[in-house]
Amino acid sequence: MKEVLPAPTSAIVQNETKRIRELFEQNVVPSYARFDLVLERGDGSYVWDIDGKRYLDLAGGIAVCSLGHAHPEMIKALTEQSQKLIHVSNLYYNELQGRLAKRIIDLIAPGRAFFCNSGAEANEGLFKLARKFGHDDGRYEIITTFESFHGRTLAGIAATGQEKVKKGFEPAVPGFKQVPFNDLDAMRGAITSKTSAILIEPVQGESGIMIASPEYLIGLRRLCDERNLLLLFDEVQAGHFRTGKFQSWQRILEQAIEVNRPYLPDAVSMAKSLGGGFPMGAFWVREKFANVLSAGTHATTFGGTPLACAVALKVFEVIERENLAANARDTGAFLLRELQSIQQRFPKVVKVVRGLGLMIGIEFQPQFKAVEIVKELHKRSILTVPAGNSVIRLLPALNLSRPEAEEGLRVIEKLVVDLAHKE
Ligand code: PLP
Repeated sequence: MKEVLPAPTSAIVQNETKRIRELFEQNVVPSYARFDLVLERGDGSYVWDIDGKRYLDLAGGIAVCSLGHAHPEMIKALTEQSQKLIHVSNLYYNELQGRLAKRIIDLIAPGRAFFCNSGAEANEGLFKLARKFGHDDGRYEIITTFESFHGRTLAGIAATGQEKVKKGFEPAVPGFKQVPFNDLDAMRGAITSKTSAILIEPVQGESGIMIASPEYLIGLRRLCDERNLLLLFDEVQAGHFRTGKFQSWQRILEQAIEVNRPYLPDAVSMAKSLGGGFPMGAFWVREKFANVLSAGTHATTFGGTPLACAVALKVFEVIERENLAANARDTGAFLLRELQSIQQRFPKVVKVVRGLGLMIGIEFQPQFKAVEIVKELHKRSILTVPAGNSVIRLLPALNLSRPEAEEGLRVIEKLVVDLAHKE
């Protein structure tokens, strides 16, 4: 049984927090608005701050720590592989990268995988794929959606449908435009003779968990077939079994009767949970377009190192052996049901609760600011992630247990009750 220690009170600890904050203020680029927490260690779905206060981690490193913290099998894979071979360049073959690519292909469809280091970089690969695909007929444009998020590189922010990430970095990389999400007519209307691809997140994460309808996904596939466009999915946040299937489009479409099976996009970006906390990104491209990025057209020094691949293979192994996709589906459904019941009892505090598997957005009424809710939950020993003005997200480890989910629910419910009484 893990002990819950009292909140930081001692002057020594407060000084320690202050000292570390100052170390950051003096030395780290201030591009993040950080919360006032110094985290020191983790175990499963719990993390501890420097005072020894324990938090239930429902943020999962923003959908990264798929097996929780300090998973013994990940530690073993990291240790053993690092004693053998940490890095070799992509001038040579290494078996682990080939095995990891096969694992991804077996779970999607015949094609190829490319490995990189982050979600933004995985998307950059998709952008280059789309440019190369349309190049010979003068097509280069990629249509994305409002409220999307595709990373912080220059092309990533051009693709992203949120003004706040673009501001101050003009002129934007040309060739991107946005239309409303889940609106097939808007997408159809935006296609021009210059369009080469459509890119969406089947579940938008940063905008507060907005889920594509099956009709929208099916319609996009038809549209791309009719107009000879690539259909690209950004599964960086929603992928890797988080919604109960390997990729979220596979979950969204599992009940759809109209789908011409197999339903496939043309390429998919991944990152976050793929390495369970070890930095890693990837994209899969369908067999038909596997040679678009031919030798010499795309590369990255650290892509698919033996160490990253050994860890990612271990993450796959544990998820499959322990059937964590089913846990994400069931525990996610339980959390969603309970949170929706809280919403129904307190509609003046909680506006709506949305989710798919372990990807849940709790939208508060607009007077409640997401950042303030997240801070209040810190006081109550829970980590969550803000999204936009009034949404908090739960993106926990895929092995979150039922008692841990219940613990989180109790704290969130108490907060909602307290806010309702204050109103
Ligand atoms: N795409 C989506 C859907 C994301 O949620 C994110 C990060 O939040 C990214 C891309 C960018 O990934 P990274 O931060 O690893 O570059």
